Amino acid sequence: MENTLVDLVRLQRLDRSIAHQRQRIGGLPAEIQEKVDIADELKGKQVSCDTRRKEKLVHASEWEVTVQGHETRLEKLEAQMFTARDAAAIQIGQHESEALRVKVSEAQDAALRLMEEAELIAAKGESYAVSAAEALHEVESFRSQAGEDETELLGELKALEDRRTEIVGRMVGDAFQRYEKLRVPKKGRPVSRLVEGACEGCGIQLNPTEQGHIRVAKDVRCCSSCERILVDAPLWARGTA
Ligand SMILES: [Zn+2]
Repeated sequence: MENTLVDLVRLQRLDRSIAHQRQRIGGLPAEIQEKVDIADELKGKQVSCDTRRKEKLVHASEWEVTVQGHETRLEKLEAQMFTARDAAAIQIGQHESEALRVKVSEAQDAALRLMEEAELIAAKGESYAVSAAEALHEVESFRSQAGEDETELLGELKALEDRRTEIVGRMVGDAFQRYEKLRVPKKGRPVSRLVEGACEGCGIQLNPTEQGHIRVAKDVRCCSSCERILVDAPLWARGTA
């Protein structure tokens, strides 16, 4: 029975390694998805910059059309004033051309401002494009790395599971059945060490008779408080060696 108790300790450690390994394998696709999301977000920002830049440029060219319209009108006015004889008409013409020059200057400013904004947005879009390309590259390299990792992790898992089968196969009595029954309720810690007469799992002090039963290790003894299978410290040490 001693060897079986040692094996129970080994099994508990092994099962935790197996659970950990399964978690690592399960975590891989989520990690890839996270990186894909980052790349997508950057690409989205780049596209949005592009759209906004185009809008600004369309707006700017509208202002330029306005400028041209005003300038054409100005040329006509100046030609009219050049041939005008009537002082009042010239004054009206001057008045109108002054107002038009103000409008031209305003429209030019507006167009210029929009073009500057478009340029800033283009630079921002460019940096998003670079970051997006980098992020995509990272996704690709992570994907191939993860592929290798997964094969490796699955190989390691298989080795752990083989070891488990071997240990379970040589256990005697109903030790394994008891272990399995307690495994989930005790959250993966169905076996507890007896340390200085106390159960390490729940801390309760066992009476000397019970301690003696555990020390001689003739059968599987469980803690009267937490129900965990108790293993004396020296045997425990063998199981964790
Ligand atoms: Zn206990």
